[in-house]
Amino acid sequence: MGALTEAGLLAVWEAGLAGDVVRRALVLAAAGGADAASAADLSVGRREAFVLALRERSFGTTFPCAVTCPSCGEELELELTTDDVRAAGPGAGRQVRLDGFEVGFRLITSRDLLTVRDGRTDVTATRRSLLGRVVTTATREGRKVTVDELPERVLDALAAELSAQDPQADVLLDLDCANCGHEWASPFDVTTHLWAELDAYARRLLHDVHVLAVAYGWSEDDVLAVSPARRQCYLELVAE
Ligand SMILES: [Zn+2]
Repeated sequence: MGALTEAGLLAVWEAGLAGDVVRRALVLAAAGGADAASAADLSVGRREAFVLALRERSFGTTFPCAVTCPSCGEELELELTTDDVRAAGPGAGRQVRLDGFEVGFRLITSRDLLTVRDGRTDVTATRRSLLGRVVTTATREGRKVTVDELPERVLDALAAELSAQDPQADVLLDLDCANCGHEWASPFDVTTHLWAELDAYARRLLHDVHVLAVAYGWSEDDVLAVSPARRQCYLELVAE
């Protein structure tokens, strides 16, 4: 797939504008090459890999980033690449054993997230509900148990294993501070990052369309048909 056109990026932005963060991630994944009809059933990590593919197609492979050192407060400028935030595909592990419990599971999908979020505000209940959806078998000393019978320790181990088996869903960047030497791991969310870039890009582009439409009586299509370099010249002329 080639780079998206400006009109293509505006269409993706518009489609993602109304949704919550999960629906927005699905819009971005579909624009990145995922099958729109089945993207909600991909593991969250697989979905994020498609979002990362869209990031590369639309804005390239480098991420200028600014982070604040949690130890000394220094503002650090980072130049990350998409390789820095690309994790391995899903692992093969689908079982957790702890304290005589044996739990089989599948990976979390966007559909799971959309289903459990609807109408719930209690974080603990949401977590239990989410883990309940992905548990395929649960036994204690060989006897079947329900998800509600699983102790917190087992649920914690299950949550950790879900994350470990779908690494692109939970990207952690190893960072170190050039000022004080502090080392820490910072979560990196590809969808949130790309959405912020896309939103800023689209609003800037629409502002330029507005200025040129007013000045010359052009339509949106007219403005987008002019190359970015020529458009910049016209914008400078209008501002004179
Ligand atoms: Zn520091």
